Amino acid sequence: MLIDSQYLIFTVIILIASIIVLKLKILDFIGTISSIFMGNLIYLVTGIGGFILVIEFFIIGFICTRFRFKQKRRKGIAQEKGGIRSWENVVANGFAFSLFGTLYYLTNNELFLIGFITSIAIATGDTLATEIGLLSSKKPRLITNFKEVETGKSGGITVLGTIASILGIMIIILSSSVNGFSFNTNILMISIIGAIFGTFIDSIIGATIQAQYFCNKCNKFTELSIHHEQQNKLIKGFSFIDNNIVNLLSTLSGSMISILFIIVFY
Ligand SMILES: [Zn+2]
Repeated sequence: MLIDSQYLIFTVIILIASIIVLKLKILDFIGTISSIFMGNLIYLVTGIGGFILVIEFFIIGFICTRFRFKQKRRKGIAQEKGGIRSWENVVANGFAFSLFGTLYYLTNNELFLIGFITSIAIATGDTLATEIGLLSSKKPRLITNFKEVETGKSGGITVLGTIASILGIMIIILSSSVNGFSFNTNILMISIIGAIFGTFIDSIIGATIQAQYFCNKCNKFTELSIHHEQQNKLIKGFSFIDNNIVNLLSTLSGSMISILFIIVFY
């Protein structure tokens, strides 16, 4: 099953796609290599349907990161290096769905497929909350006490970012049935709710224990430890809990919430 003609076509497509990814500076070189490995894994364990879901996340994330990039850069601190992402981003966003996809392949238990779909949805939701939230005309409010905070402060949420996030989650989860995973409406709803929990967990960790820095040059709060190739000052949280760790924790925990809800209520 592993080497068939469909897999050969897939390999050609993924190689062409990775050249585009490098040319468009979506990922750096090692990030691209890691995503080729991850794409292959997803294809082998969940089939073409699972792979298409991951591609949806990838394309939505790319478009929203580049959308009004200059405006976002003026406002807060946009992703370093013009939005180019590294292998750490790939692993942080992809670990949960790779894990659940592999567990599904090994056990054939559909609960892991729910975990797989939910974690892709959370990764998409988190990206949209940040990238679209930066375009909000209103200042974000901290998820823990709803006080207004400066743009770029982790844990800050906006109405615009939250709506975009929920829309992204719904696109991923509802399109999973088009991609060949046939879950009924109740299960899809539970998966959406679990994914929304996941994005809230992302913000709650962001507001509490995530490392928060201040860049003296930009005079702005940031999640980035280094800006302009200089070390920023840590003002809150633990230095080892960076944005990637937060993404990893939120995708894992939100998916487990979906799975738990289905075990308990369904
Ligand atoms: Zn700066």
